[in-house]
Amino acid sequence: MIEIRGVTRRFGNFAALDNALLSVREGEFFSLLGPSGCGKTTLLRMIAGFDTPTSGTILIDGQEMGGTPANQRPTNMVFQSYAIFPHLNVEQNVGYGLKRLKLGKVEERRRVEEALSQVALSGLGKRGASELSGGQRQRVALARALVMRPKVLLLDEPLSALDKKLREQMQVELRHLQQTVGITFVLVTHDQYEALAMSDRIAVMFGGRIAQVDTPKHVYQRPVNRQVADFLGGMNFVRAPVVEESGGQIVVDTPGFGRVSTDRPIAFQTSDGSATLGIRPERLRVLWDDETASHEVAGTVVDRHYFGEITHLLVDIPGFESPLSVTETNNFGADDIPVGAPIRLAYDPDALVAMAD
Ligand code: ATP
Repeated sequence: MIEIRGVTRRFGNFAALDNALLSVREGEFFSLLGPSGCGKTTLLRMIAGFDTPTSGTILIDGQEMGGTPANQRPTNMVFQSYAIFPHLNVEQNVGYGLKRLKLGKVEERRRVEEALSQVALSGLGKRGASELSGGQRQRVALARALVMRPKVLLLDEPLSALDKKLREQMQVELRHLQQTVGITFVLVTHDQYEALAMSDRIAVMFGGRIAQVDTPKHVYQRPVNRQVADFLGGMNFVRAPVVEESGGQIVVDTPGFGRVSTDRPIAFQTSDGSATLGIRPERLRVLWDDETASHEVAGTVVDRHYFGEITHLLVDIPGFESPLSVTETNNFGADDIPVGAPIRLAYDPDALVAMAD
């Protein structure tokens, strides 16, 4: 549905986007994820036609978009600020863009009602825009975009103004909505949980470059480098010598985990014969009493942080540069493990992933 072919956007000498290459499939919920300033809004704006690439081409639904103004593209954008007209009611806001299509009053009305029902706002058409809650305003903004029946809906941090509970609820609703209407969604967000929860695929971006494009599970479990791993959540890094390299695999010898065979990362290079292995904190599990596991590592608890449903333990493992972070749910009493206690942890060697630095 969308092809980004070698797109660069420069502001003076600075490349806000550097040679981006990307395809978004039809009907996909696709997210551009990255820290502030990584170029995700710049890319979204160029897809929408609000900005022009310095070089490279953008195709939407097979058509090259160079020279096509925003209002003639098969896209529609939902802004962070919603940009709702305060002096119009809900229905007038939603129907605003339809005027220029000259569909006639009956069809216009039908389309507005359909869009309102898609975002669960049926019956609120006559409500003034200023009489809406944050979540309702967000829905009006969505309905106003959907009513135009775009092939691609572009969403620029649409949930960032909502509080945590409502944001989580809207994430689920937005995902359902996308599946119901079947339109391709491209979401810009700096919130990794939002991207993981909603997307079919995610492009992770840093400094104007796309670092990885993959499914939520893959970017989380198989990050290509430390930067991606770090951005997507907690990660323990262990640097250890590579003792064997064959085809797509490398074998790394670590003090605590022993010899670990893992996929060779795509951009893998080693200057000192070592590799970085990562394991997520929740992939380490506390072994209680006489419980054993086929793969375990022993250490000492050096710190503990309580977070209600989970506890973070920091565990010092002999031979490791820094303690391992372990996330345990609190149903077995991890919140009561004292600092200084000896501890054994179970792990799955498949959860250990080698990555580029
Ligand atoms: P945020 O989440 O903060 O919006 P972002 O990833 O969307 O961040 P962009 O808005 O795409 O980032 O900006 C990327 C970089 O390009 C930033 O360093 C920004 O300062 C710069 N930039 C964006 N627009 C312009 C402009 N019109 N002139 C100069 N620099 C710009």
